[in-house]
Amino acid sequence: MLEQLKKLSKDLSNTFSAKNIIELLSVFFAENFGTGSIDIYVFDETTNNLRDFEKNWLYIEEICTKQTIQDLYRHYELLKNTTYTEDKNILYYGLYKGDRPIGLIKFDVSYIETDNLIEFLNTASYFISLKVQNIILSEKMQKNVDFHDSMKNIAKIIETQYELNYIVPIIGEMIDKFISNHLIYIFLRNEETSDYTLVWPNSCRDEKIQGLLNVLTPNSDCIMTADKKIGLFPLVTEGKLIGCIVAKSTDGKLNEKEVEYIEQLTNQAATTIDRANVYAEILKHATLDALTGFYNRRQLEERIKQEVSGAKRKNKPLCAIMTDIDFFKQVNDTYGHAIGDIVLKTVSMVIKSQLRDYDIAGRYGGEEFTILLPYTNINDAKMVAERLRASIAKKTIDISKVVPDSPHKNINVTISLGVHQLSKDDNEVDLLQKADEALYRAKGNGRNKVVVYGL
Ligand code: GH3
Ligand code: MG
Ligand code: MG
Repeated sequence: MLEQLKKLSKDLSNTFSAKNIIELLSVFFAENFGTGSIDIYVFDETTNNLRDFEKNWLYIEEICTKQTIQDLYRHYELLKNTTYTEDKNILYYGLYKGDRPIGLIKFDVSYIETDNLIEFLNTASYFISLKVQNIILSEKMQKNVDFHDSMKNIAKIIETQYELNYIVPIIGEMIDKFISNHLIYIFLRNEETSDYTLVWPNSCRDEKIQGLLNVLTPNSDCIMTADKKIGLFPLVTEGKLIGCIVAKSTDGKLNEKEVEYIEQLTNQAATTIDRANVYAEILKHATLDALTGFYNRRQLEERIKQEVSGAKRKNKPLCAIMTDIDFFKQVNDTYGHAIGDIVLKTVSMVIKSQLRDYDIAGRYGGEEFTILLPYTNINDAKMVAERLRASIAKKTIDISKVVPDSPHKNINVTISLGVHQLSKDDNEVDLLQKADEALYRAKGNGRNKVVVYGL
């Protein structure tokens, strides 16, 4: 038996995932004791549920039959006072941390005498417990590392972004990834009207929540509903209430640990949003967009005014091109926002390389650019637009250095463009609006197209 123990202990020490541990144990116990299938269940103290160690931590409620669920909880209770129980050809052996049970192993013992097995487990269960704890701990640590990485990623994204409407969904996506059994909603508050707008996800079917939001003040801590199913976590930066993260439990109450965890996330999110606000303030005074090097929206609007009045004064033609990347959301969703940013940067570089020195390029918003072509009539502008379209379509963006393990090495994107020449009656708003209308038709015509307004 000593030999067997040694072997098991050695094999376990070379095994690093829950799945492999179960595999190893199944083979080991089948070969040495003739047992059938083996399962391990671990008690999760944050939710007070038993979870399957092997199957991605699923709650047993999600994967077992009613009878099995009942049996498991009943035997788990019994194992607080005894090391094993036997019932209907199943042997339950407790896993302990000191005296405290942390879970149980379930053996199918239909065809065997259990005496030897139990004797062996009296010692072996100690190794198995340690190994299980070890794995749980490293998974928890991994989760923290992942969380930290995501935060760093967000920080990186917001270095070049300042629109909350863009940043908040990214925060939402991230929180969602780390919180499994709750629905998460993020609301932003309009300071002037005190109204809340849902920014993540797209809809919130629970009408109660809107009502609850009105109770919040900048000094509120987390607020829970009486049934503890909904928690409101105010987003406060510099004493201002800027929004709220709402967590709604999908199974039972939110417990203390969860509340603590979401509180931490909320603080992180508030800091992130705060940084974005500070950054936006700085960028307001800048003239160039940090990601693309094009004029930013504010500066672009300034330049449009100047160019429109110049063109009218000198009676020279002026054209505007509005362009938007096709299916850009898919790029973000498939490769992540960091790659999305690289694509944006590349597209802007290609555009720049095709323009004359006195042409004006601005980032109108997200992935939309505006190009002004002074001294250019509509025929030439259409040619420029066509050239831009073609050069983007044939540009291959190499992402292999940034995402070495991606199955795709290169990304290709296309853009759609709308063109308009300033007419006598147009003001600066009309100029862009008409180019934008043409862009909209280019999208409608199948994308990767140039459309001239009015044609
Ligand atoms: P369409 O062909 O109709 O334009 O499809 P689309 O997917 O491009 O649609 P839409 O214009 O609605 O989506 C734009 C997306 O661009 C949504 C937003 O997440 C993303 N986006 C906006 N600004 C940025 C940015 O600065 N960086 C990154 N990575 N993504 C951005
Ligand atoms: Mg687009
Ligand atoms: Mg767009």
